[in-house]
Amino acid sequence: MPLMQSSHIVVIGAGYAGLSAAALLAKRGYQVVVLEAHDTFGGCASFYRRGSMTFDVGATTFSGVQPWQPVGRLFADLDEKPELERQDPGMLVRIDGETIVRHADPNTWIDAIASRFGQQQREFWHTLYHIEERVWRLIANKPYLPPSSVADWLAMAKPSNLSALSLLPGMVRSMQQLMVRHGVHDNPVFQRFINEQLLISTQSTAEHAPWLTGALGLTYPSETYYPIGGMYRPALQLVRSIKANGGSIHYRRSVTSIDVRKGALEVRCANGDVYRAKHVINSIPIWNLARIASGPIQSWARHHAANNSSAWCAITAYAAFEGYHTLPTAYVQAHLQRPIPGVHSGSIFVTVKPNHDHVKAPDGVVTVTLSTHARWDDVPTADVLAGYLQRALLDAVPELAGMPMKHFEVGTPATWQRYTLRHNGYVGGLPHTTRRPLLRMPPNRTPVPGFWMIGDTAFPGQGTPSVILGAQNTVQRIMAAEGHSS
Ligand SMILES: Cc1cc2nc3c(=O)[nH]c(=O)nc-3n(C[C@H](O)[C@H](O)[C@H](O)COP(=O)(O)OP(=O)(O)OC[C@H]3O[C@@H](n4cnc5c(N)ncnc54)[C@H](O)[C@@H]3O)c2cc1C
Repeated sequence: MPLMQSSHIVVIGAGYAGLSAAALLAKRGYQVVVLEAHDTFGGCASFYRRGSMTFDVGATTFSGVQPWQPVGRLFADLDEKPELERQDPGMLVRIDGETIVRHADPNTWIDAIASRFGQQQREFWHTLYHIEERVWRLIANKPYLPPSSVADWLAMAKPSNLSALSLLPGMVRSMQQLMVRHGVHDNPVFQRFINEQLLISTQSTAEHAPWLTGALGLTYPSETYYPIGGMYRPALQLVRSIKANGGSIHYRRSVTSIDVRKGALEVRCANGDVYRAKHVINSIPIWNLARIASGPIQSWARHHAANNSSAWCAITAYAAFEGYHTLPTAYVQAHLQRPIPGVHSGSIFVTVKPNHDHVKAPDGVVTVTLSTHARWDDVPTADVLAGYLQRALLDAVPELAGMPMKHFEVGTPATWQRYTLRHNGYVGGLPHTTRRPLLRMPPNRTPVPGFWMIGDTAFPGQGTPSVILGAQNTVQRIMAAEGHSS
């Protein structure tokens, strides 16, 4: 028997975007219901268990945790303190038999990169850190971004925002142009190093990545945080916060239609449940939305889906070893020594559980998540991939060689589509590119009153800090629409 329910606010999807929005709204006293298709939360930052071992399915790294940054602001706002360990080094990058240590301290890193690739590196990296600092401060507390109404443009025109004008070219000029300007573009090893670092952070290489977001991507290893137990644990704090503040999360509720009916938004689920709400916050990808929405929401979503018609897919692998390793950080990016069929980047990203994290797996067991870029229509079977990925993993992290491997599984784009429902297994959001400036991404405020769009295919894009920022901005906009101050 279909169940018709009313809620002031319905949130679709229990990934980091949806959970963050719901937790903030519940904390402010709004009646919130989260609808999630899967039987657990987390989406691309979710987890699965094998016996006493937990595996992060995709995302493994936090950044943006300082008090003025999105993750820091979110958890402070909710009076929660996630258990995050700053990694120093933030990452190891293994390239052509050499290990480049991404020291967390910017000055130590700049000394190291300058001694490896030349003194002109100094000014380049100082510029990147300077841009990074300005961007974070600029985008904090600007819910009117991207501007989508006269009021938003007026808010943007405030004198305090004028200093940001010098950053605007960074949305349409590439990281490659910035590298040329600083004379750091002609070393092919450095160029590959930059391209692979940008690919994991902006989903684009230097030729297309805007220098504005590219600067955030290249400097994030200075602020890389490992969540004890896995990426799902801070998300679990959000789930608990939602419930403690009177909100609810309904699992196995796959939303199949969204429409505007008789002045309210109506959301239907595959099990027959129907929800009517004044506000609906959608966090599922724009391509999925275009398929399930009707009327004006569908027209809007189709327009943006057509303008952003493709994205990356992921190939992932999950391994467990017995013993202890000697890595100084949880994160290794390794350039491939030989090609892997179906892999469309030059590197793999490997997250190795620190020995002392006994929440993720018991003492003496090391779990590993490996990820790399792929295309939907060009992927061998998991069985074929397994052999290549095992070899690539041991090449990347020889510290694991000699430790007995007790588990190995592969995830393909089809696996990702099955578990997250994401169209074509597209993950990692919309690639940042100069061809589609940041402000033209699907905005959080849509033309349909009460219908909001967040998640990694909406402004400001992919990664947990960005989707949390989109949720924060949307909550502020909803409060303003309701006549409440934040
Ligand atoms: C391999 C990989 C590695 C990554 N590494 C990092 C990293 O280290 N650090 C980082 O910050 N980011 C990383 N990212 C990116 C980051 O994980 C995502 O950008 C972010 O988690 C997206 O969150 P979201 O809430 O927007 O979407 P999702 O996580 O996709 O959540 C959407 C939710 O909606 C649900 N859903 C879908 N359709 C429906 C429907 N019809 N009805 C109801 N529910 C539905 C899904 O089940 C899912 O739970 C990585 C991504 C991948 C794939």
